[in-house]
Amino acid sequence: MAELKAGNIIEWHRLSPILSLFRVVALDSSPFPAYQAGQYIALRRDDCLLTRKVKEGNEVRYVPDLDEAGKQKRGPVTHSYSISSAPYETAQGNYLEFYVVLERGLDGVLGRFTESLFRGMEGHSNERLAYLERIVGDFTLAKRAAGFEHVLMVGTGTGLAPFVSMIKQLDFEAQHGATAPARYTLLHANRTREELAYHRELLGIEKAKRFDFVYVPTVSRPASRDLSDPQLGSGRANNLLRQLFELPPKEPSAAPLALPGERPLAMLRERIRPAQTVVLTCGNPNGMADIAWIAAQAGMRFEKEDW
Ligand SMILES: Cc1cc2nc3c(=O)[nH]c(=O)nc-3n(C[C@H](O)[C@H](O)[C@H](O)COP(=O)(O)OP(=O)(O)OC[C@H]3O[C@@H](n4cnc5c(N)ncnc54)[C@H](O)[C@@H]3O)c2cc1C
Repeated sequence: MAELKAGNIIEWHRLSPILSLFRVVALDSSPFPAYQAGQYIALRRDDCLLTRKVKEGNEVRYVPDLDEAGKQKRGPVTHSYSISSAPYETAQGNYLEFYVVLERGLDGVLGRFTESLFRGMEGHSNERLAYLERIVGDFTLAKRAAGFEHVLMVGTGTGLAPFVSMIKQLDFEAQHGATAPARYTLLHANRTREELAYHRELLGIEKAKRFDFVYVPTVSRPASRDLSDPQLGSGRANNLLRQLFELPPKEPSAAPLALPGERPLAMLRERIRPAQTVVLTCGNPNGMADIAWIAAQAGMRFEKEDW
């Protein structure tokens, strides 16, 4: 059984009201276990607002769990989070980094862990967090992409986390003389430009050309300046992929569907070559189901990380 260890949040970078990047260090400064890009760890907060399940007919809902005085009960909640730092960054700086969204259920009830996290960090009053000293998961390039010439990564929202870890690690290894075994294309979709975590860093890695990497960022709610930015696409990830494979969009979208001007359709089609491509995806389950369908239509191997 892995040990539960006390940690501290040392950096909290709020990208929008519902999205943050943060770093965790061990309270006793002990090193984290070694890991591979794409793996995850369990994090725990102790003062979470608890919910309880109610069944109405066939419908299941989660509502605030109240005590006799009508106050919402508090307690610990533990969940898994993909690590967005690269293994080399953890080895050098002894921290783990995460990209997390504040969860909001269908009827507006905030997620137990993430509400506690965002509330606690709002005034930097509660920077404590515990973690299980065990890093696991098989969503790694070695397990999911071995033997493919091209790896197409599709991250929606915080589903970017495992991919940014992989890309940073590949870039680091390329700087130290390793030859990356494949071509890599990363499609990251979020609602706004501010929410595209690691945008500048990924543009920098692409520009440095230390390995064969193309970054395709896109936003589903573009501002007018975004529409003229040649580095930014507009529309959802699944619909852009559909466009690449000449499939009709899944749903009509308010934003125009456009790839970044500097990553034109012909160039991406040339890279993809379905028979030699594996699509790795992570994030929103509805979006991933459509990406699985597109992969099947195009004849590409499909792999996903279930959240
Ligand atoms: C391997 C893995 C990696 C992940 N990586 C990331 C990541 O990098 N970034 C990220 O943002 N998220 C990640 N997640 C999702 C994360 O683990 C949490 O599920 C998410 O943050 C919501 O947690 P929460 O406590 O805030 O919400 P919850 O309170 O757990 O609510 C989420 C949903 O669970 C249900 N629910 C509510 N209350 C209860 C209850 N009492 N019992 C059971 N179900 C309930 C409801 O349907 C609700 O909509 C990952 C998940 C996995 C499995």
